[in-house]
Amino acid sequence: MAESLEDLLQRLCAVVPDYPEPGVTFRDLTPVFADGAALRQVVDALIEPFAGQFDAVAGVEARGFLLAAAAGYASGTGVITVRKAGKLPRAVYHEEYQLEYGSAALELHRDELPEGSRVLILDDVLATGGTLAAASKLFADARVEVVGYGVVLELVQLHGRAALAGHRVRSLLRLS
Ligand code: AMP
Repeated sequence: MAESLEDLLQRLCAVVPDYPEPGVTFRDLTPVFADGAALRQVVDALIEPFAGQFDAVAGVEARGFLLAAAAGYASGTGVITVRKAGKLPRAVYHEEYQLEYGSAALELHRDELPEGSRVLILDDVLATGGTLAAASKLFADARVEVVGYGVVLELVQLHGRAALAGHRVRSLLRLS
């Protein structure tokens, strides 16, 4: 019998205890990205519920970029980079947020998408939801509609969905 996508992700995802600091269990998806068949299944599954509903795919730095680039290519849409503070060269929207470990800020070029366009936001892991909520605020500032979020892994005990209330979230593997 063919391996399910959930089983494939369980098998390929590397679990790294105490990284990047003690007490955090890091879920490393780079082996998923390194597997061509897995990458294709992941990207297809992330965009499938939102087919025809978005004008661009946004990826959150850095692992979200990999998913967004592949999803943009697969869906024939453009790719938007939501970057860590200080990386984008032109005028930006700026949003501070809390991480599972520490705090950070995200930025989006002000003129990246026309007002009223629709974006699907992708990242590798949904933990507390702070990152995707911050990304969402950037698009709200830009008057761009967020049609939903796609993540490979959802750490359900951190209740990230609550931070994203009102939006559709597609996660491919939910871990407790
Ligand atoms: P959060 O804002 O708490 O939802 O955290 C999500 C972001 O932090 C994503 O960009 C992930 O790449 C990263 N992240 C948070 N927790 C983990 C974890 N346990 N394993 C891997 N990445 C994580």
